[in-house]
Amino acid sequence: MKTNGAGFWIGVSLVMVLLIALMFRWLLVVYGLRVTSWFRSPWRNVELGGKTWSLHLIGWAADVVPVNLALQQLMKLLPFSKFVVESDHVHIQLF
Ligand SMILES: [Zn+2]
Repeated sequence: MKTNGAGFWIGVSLVMVLLIALMFRWLLVVYGLRVTSWFRSPWRNVELGGKTWSLHLIGWAADVVPVNLALQQLMKLLPFSKFVVESDHVHIQLF
């Protein structure tokens, strides 16, 4: 059976996106942070007032608590990430 080239690479891309999301999530656990929001469906994202192309949709963003030393260390470790301090949590997203 001949594989469909485009389909194969789309599959590889999706797996890569998922692996990065899982590594990101794992890192948050290692740093002892509690994740209050990670993957979101487009509907849930609208409900929560997220941006249309929020990285929560692919798991590359997470809302975490508490704001402590571990989080500050993580901020230094992930220099390309974006950190947004919200009212009751910190939003972290890759890139
Ligand atoms: Zn968020």
